[in-house]
Amino acid sequence: MLKEPPTICGRRNFMQSLLITMFALAGIGMAQAQNSAPGTPAKISTVYTGDVINGKKVVSSLNTSDLEPGKKHLLYFQGVQMSTGQYWYVSVIVAKGAKPGKRITLTSGVHGDEMSSVHTVQTVMNRLNAAEMSGTVMAVLDIARPAMESMQRRWPSSGRGLELIDMNREWPGNENGFSAVSRQAGLVFNRLLKSNTDLAIDFHTGTTGLDASAFHIGDMSIPDVKTMMMLYPIGAIWDNPVYPGVLHNAYIDAGIPCFTPEIGAARRLDLDMIPIFVEGTMNVFKHYGVVPGVVGRTAVDANVYIGKNAFPVLITQGGFIELFVKMNDKVTPGQKVAIQRNAFGEVVAEYTSPVDGLIGSLRSDATSEPGNVLMFILAIDATVSGAPPYVE
Ligand SMILES: [Zn+2]
Repeated sequence: MLKEPPTICGRRNFMQSLLITMFALAGIGMAQAQNSAPGTPAKISTVYTGDVINGKKVVSSLNTSDLEPGKKHLLYFQGVQMSTGQYWYVSVIVAKGAKPGKRITLTSGVHGDEMSSVHTVQTVMNRLNAAEMSGTVMAVLDIARPAMESMQRRWPSSGRGLELIDMNREWPGNENGFSAVSRQAGLVFNRLLKSNTDLAIDFHTGTTGLDASAFHIGDMSIPDVKTMMMLYPIGAIWDNPVYPGVLHNAYIDAGIPCFTPEIGAARRLDLDMIPIFVEGTMNVFKHYGVVPGVVGRTAVDANVYIGKNAFPVLITQGGFIELFVKMNDKVTPGQKVAIQRNAFGEVVAEYTSPVDGLIGSLRSDATSEPGNVLMFILAIDATVSGAPPYVE
């Protein structure tokens, strides 16, 4: 399933509106009505809970200006509670430069099956020497912890029996929200990310069953987003603001430029692709003066293909898929891209490209039901309406 059906979203919004109306009619403010969770403090300061886990201090909010300069700090951020009353802690690394400068935040693990994004951030952080930095780089590695613990895209919520919720449709979250995942997003965004960040990069990969190429998603009309994306030696960019609820758009709504790199397939490390993203991220640090050094190869050197849309080809039958194209292939309208056979081996469907474009994402499972996405084609001109969105 690609995204939560609109009926459920609508119903949840309706229920939230209904409750707000009920509280308003009863003369009760939401803060009073939901006083089990504290509101967002006006000014974020560092709060140590007093707990230490595996030698790392635990914070429930963080102001990186409180940390000692010229050092790396390893912390746990205390997220939302589990059903047992314990907490979903999130791993935080802060490389606090010896001198002040831009504050850049790297995130991974908003989806729990996207391992190359975590490894990219780890690799970048290992390259940093805080003593020679001017500025701060913060990494938050495992934001959707329960999803990561089970190597799956979505957060297992206990609200109505176990249901899986896509955390990257929940941002900026709500500390008083109607699910643990909404509250986790609210806590992480308000008390960790937003007030410590001038520029942000939220790393992702393809998802289980649907591999991705190496490309960025971001809105190139925002100057710093364009600058950052073009600093990677990357072959493709999807220049599109995409949909509400994703972390990079919550940042942008807060005035913080952000984009989403996509690093190959889910569940495994793509050690050939990760170095492109490490090199590009180091270029971003150099460009903004956070680390010394000269910017290396960029998207111009990689002859980047910039698409305006990610056009989906949908699977129409059940059966076994045989692909005739590979990731990053250029395709033309009418070009045959796949066939599908039933259990008898009879061909039941032929698929063609509807557009001129570049294959940015491909189904990796060999079978499919109808209605799934076979591939997304990054296209310059195509317009898409009513189609399922690319699952970043
Ligand atoms: Zn993702």
